[in-house]
Amino acid sequence: MIQIKDLNRVFATEDVQTKALNHINLHIAEGEFVSIMGPSGCGKSTLLNIIGLLDEISSGSYQLLGKEVAGMNELERSRMRKANIGFIFQNFNLIDELNVYDNIELPLIYNKVPASERKERVKEIAEKLNISHRLQHYPQQLSGGQQQRVAVARALICNPKIILADEPTGNLDSSNGNEVMELLTKLHAQGTTILMVTHSAHDASYSQKIISMKDGEILSEKINQKVIDVFQ
Ligand code: ADP
Ligand code: MG
Repeated sequence: MIQIKDLNRVFATEDVQTKALNHINLHIAEGEFVSIMGPSGCGKSTLLNIIGLLDEISSGSYQLLGKEVAGMNELERSRMRKANIGFIFQNFNLIDELNVYDNIELPLIYNKVPASERKERVKEIAEKLNISHRLQHYPQQLSGGQQQRVAVARALICNPKIILADEPTGNLDSSNGNEVMELLTKLHAQGTTILMVTHSAHDASYSQKIISMKDGEILSEKINQKVIDVFQ
């Protein structure tokens, strides 16, 4: 599903060059739930953004669903992103000027889903995530936990094959954080591929595989034995 070979990402500003990703090799199979851990600045978000087609690579190869991404133009990349990927961010990234309903509906509009179908789908996902009673509220009127549930609803509304989550519990207390982790676990059980950046060993323990990064490189990939035991 995700195949990365000898991938490099260099950020060049006027006087410095930052090698954010250095010879990355990574394979993620369909249906896997993978965590990425590592110190701040080691390239976790850069890797996630590249996988999510929000950022471009400097060299190497990245194949998503069997297609090489390097040669794609912006339109092709954005089509592929909208059709296959849902994002969840640490700071929720909701649009403050839109109410909850409109925030959740947005990806459906981007994907040209007819208006008649959109209403039903927003209603359905809002019920699943227990935010139906908040649809007319604005993000700032909600707690962090509620905002992240709205963000998860927005990420899921187009039934993406892949969920990319960048420190999804980073701004949540442990009870709301656990709720988000339970949601991700449920999605994984339903077949969604999940790639999550986290600083929390507790959150990583929900995943099947833990990738450790340092200074733009992958140090290790470890199978999470605990999860395997549960599934067997
Ligand atoms: P992490 O998510 O692990 O904290 P990042 O992927 O955000 O790390 O950053 C990796 C490195 O790349 C850091 O040194 C960061 O300063 C640099 N970096 C990230 N994005 C940019 C950018 N848009 N321009 C310049 N440097 C960047
Ligand atoms: Mg980051």
